[in-house]
Amino acid sequence: MQAKLTEYHRKRDFASTAEPRGRDERSSGRNTGGRFVIQKHDASRLHYDLRIEVDGVLKSWAVPKGPSLDPRDKRLAVPTEDHPLEYADFEGVIPENEYGGGTVLVWDAGSYEHLTDRDISPADALERGRINIRLDGSKLHGGYTLTRMGKQADSQWLLIKMKGEGADRRRNPVARQPHSVLTGQNLREVAKHGHELR
Ligand code: MN
Repeated sequence: MQAKLTEYHRKRDFASTAEPRGRDERSSGRNTGGRFVIQKHDASRLHYDLRIEVDGVLKSWAVPKGPSLDPRDKRLAVPTEDHPLEYADFEGVIPENEYGGGTVLVWDAGSYEHLTDRDISPADALERGRINIRLDGSKLHGGYTLTRMGKQADSQWLLIKMKGEGADRRRNPVARQPHSVLTGQNLREVAKHGHELR
């Protein structure tokens, strides 16, 4: 099996971080979707990490402005390394290191349905540079499109809300619903508790 988490492991010292070690899991074989999570991450720059379950790992993008409910908005999504599935439940403080650190909370979580095309898998859709997904989270609902803007593996992507279900130009959950869907805490509270544990 291809080692998808090599870069994830290379970047971390599990003696000093509470993040899960994880392992490459066998693909569920499902082409229909899986879990999704959006983690609010107060690193050197605040951003939102969008992760979707594909073939046993969490495919990941850092979205500086977070998701929008307005189909007119194009949100930059920078691909980051695959994360283990258990990472979807991680909330806490990452110690500072050469790759950064900071406080993480689970801003939204739930399941996604793959909408791109009945005949291709989510992995193939990502390979081709465009995937349509329908989110069923606590804060976000409905379709989103992720599109790669270039041909390189490290090209940037755009996250755009699809029209219809969940689209709403007036609501701004990033500003209005800052708390964790797991614990109800805000970043300051997660940071405080994280430091108390150490
Ligand atoms: Mn991050």
